[in-house]
Amino acid sequence: MNMDSNKTPDVVVVSGAGGFIGGHLVADLLRSGKRVRAVDKKPLHEWYQQHENAESLVLDLSSFDACQIAVRHACEVYNLAADMGGMGFIERHKAECMLSVLINTHMLAAAAEAGVGRFFFSSSACVYAAGKQQQSDVAPLREEDAYPAMPEDGYGWEKLFSERMCRHFREDFGLETRLARYHNVYGPSGTWEGGREKAPAAICRKVAEAKLSGRGEIEIWGDGEQTRSFMFIDDCVYGSRRIMESDFNEPLNLGSDELVSINQLVDIVEEIAGSKFRRRYILDAPKGVRGRNSDNTLIKEVLDWAPSISLREGMEHTYRWIWDQMIHGTAKSGHNFT
Ligand code: NAD
Repeated sequence: MNMDSNKTPDVVVVSGAGGFIGGHLVADLLRSGKRVRAVDKKPLHEWYQQHENAESLVLDLSSFDACQIAVRHACEVYNLAADMGGMGFIERHKAECMLSVLINTHMLAAAAEAGVGRFFFSSSACVYAAGKQQQSDVAPLREEDAYPAMPEDGYGWEKLFSERMCRHFREDFGLETRLARYHNVYGPSGTWEGGREKAPAAICRKVAEAKLSGRGEIEIWGDGEQTRSFMFIDDCVYGSRRIMESDFNEPLNLGSDELVSINQLVDIVEEIAGSKFRRRYILDAPKGVRGRNSDNTLIKEVLDWAPSISLREGMEHTYRWIWDQMIHGTAKSGHNFT
């Protein structure tokens, strides 16, 4: 018998650790003394954060064999790996988004086989039914609003299917699963250029770019009156860990309920940057649903907590970080912004 098999599982696995949320989650788990295995398919030099105290593995988790390696001796798995991006990516790459089902299927199967104690799945507000998001003064989305189902095409269907698969692995195979529906997460050390970036990072980049180039104009997708809420990364990491530790195994919204229009988000970034620009609206650009906000009644009941970091405060950190990336020429696209 392999000596290793007698060991008590004590590894916390984070998949998608080379990405935005995964990188921050690994840092937080390490700070609380956990033994962490960080896994991503990107080569190490492309990870947003590398942590020397974590075991870092480069594996493509769409294959079952790779998932078996990833979850060895794991007590907990945070499964964040997905092929995803902002509206510009998910509206144009539906098949690629749906292929993330291979990651989730194989991670669940490998975790169940290895007897993992808890499995966290990062779902999304994109699971919510389109009919409930047609106005900018939208009613906040409650967890039950995902059904009857008509989620975001491609990406949202994959997330909803994988949520249900988590539930059935729990019911049929005894794997404890936890589900968070993230609503637009933003912050430093994430995607800010290249086509996968989301609105907060894209707007920071456009404002910084307009400032650096002296160009007086920025481009906005849609008419700017579409609404969203945005959650700062620190709330996301804290909330994810609280959900993992809780006894609650149904999907939970994890998002801010501070609703803003995209125009208001631009106002905030311009104020931080200390400059105002003419806005050119691109009406046929990908823009997603008309309005989306998080109803936080259930998470407050379950955790006695909900995300609370203000958009103004979070965007201040995000803008400063993106500005630094542009000034120091660290753009992955190779574009020189200065
Ligand atoms: P991200 O793109 O920065 O990170 C995802 C990581 O997964 C990437 O580093 C990517 O290389 C990795 N990955 C993709 N395919 C893989 C594979 N086959 N094997 C191993 N790794 C693979 O995204 P993020 O913003 O950090 O999002 C993390 C999770 O949260 C995702 O599941 C995403 O769908 C979900 N989510 C994010 C948001 C948000 O606003 N950022 C909102 C809702 C849900």
